[in-house]
Amino acid sequence: MRAGLDIGGTKIDAVAVDSDGTVTGSLRLPTGFGEEEVVAGAAAAVEGLRRLTGASLDSIGVGIPGLVDPATGRVRHAVNLGFHDTPFGEALEALTHTPVAVENDVNAAALGAVHLMGLEGPVAYLNLGTGFAAGLVFDGALWRGARGVSGEIGHIPVDPQRDLCLCGQRGCLETVAAGSAIARLWPTSHPYPAQDLFRAAADGDPHAVAVSRRVSEGVAAAVRLLVLTVDVERVVIGGGVSHVGAPLLSAVRLVLEEWAAASTFLASLALPDRISLLPEGLPVAAVGAAMLGRPSSVVRSA
Ligand SMILES: [Zn+2]
Repeated sequence: MRAGLDIGGTKIDAVAVDSDGTVTGSLRLPTGFGEEEVVAGAAAAVEGLRRLTGASLDSIGVGIPGLVDPATGRVRHAVNLGFHDTPFGEALEALTHTPVAVENDVNAAALGAVHLMGLEGPVAYLNLGTGFAAGLVFDGALWRGARGVSGEIGHIPVDPQRDLCLCGQRGCLETVAAGSAIARLWPTSHPYPAQDLFRAAADGDPHAVAVSRRVSEGVAAAVRLLVLTVDVERVVIGGGVSHVGAPLLSAVRLVLEEWAAASTFLASLALPDRISLLPEGLPVAAVGAAMLGRPSSVVRSA
């Protein structure tokens, strides 16, 4: 049995997965804040899974936001969790006496999406959360690149005249189409600004139409980029913004179809057919984290 933890800013989703990759138990705990609390919360989630399943755990995988060094389990810049540089894997191993693998949360989700959706071939998981990033899975294995930056397409500038990004560049995709961009461009008291934006656009609000178009173009640009650079067969769109659902998928497809109508080259790539939404409610990051130790998901790097 393997444990997988998806550690987010407010909650830890934990799953137990058997050797066939089937989820045999799951639970959710609040995350806490700061290094000690988050590690203790993760250990409590592992203990909860042990009690729930009655099984011993062979390994623990963790998907966590921030800059992760999978070789050492070290996590840096996990701002939402309240720590800046922590030997997270080591600390959790010491508490649980079980081998721990740590991975960036988007990469973990990519692995889980491929497994739970039964996808084959090269796949990109495009996470539209507060940030904007993709995880790449080739032949069932994560592709991190030479220095772990593979898939960080949110920091590709698409319009140097536009907004300053937290990374110091201007007009990054993240400033155009991430959840944080939507919250800034469409200020609302609605708990889910992206859903409110697309509903207002459907009702004909001109500003909402313009902002939702800008978001859809940003997502479409990311899909085009992923296909042109690594020729993924499928781009799975997940993250908080993906809860907009069918209206988001239709709007992105519409942009891709317009581009295809103007370019026989783009038309030949069949981009609209390559995108799909992550089905709601799949614990992809937790399941992907559990798979980190599996032999079939041996992580490759250049
Ligand atoms: Zn940036």
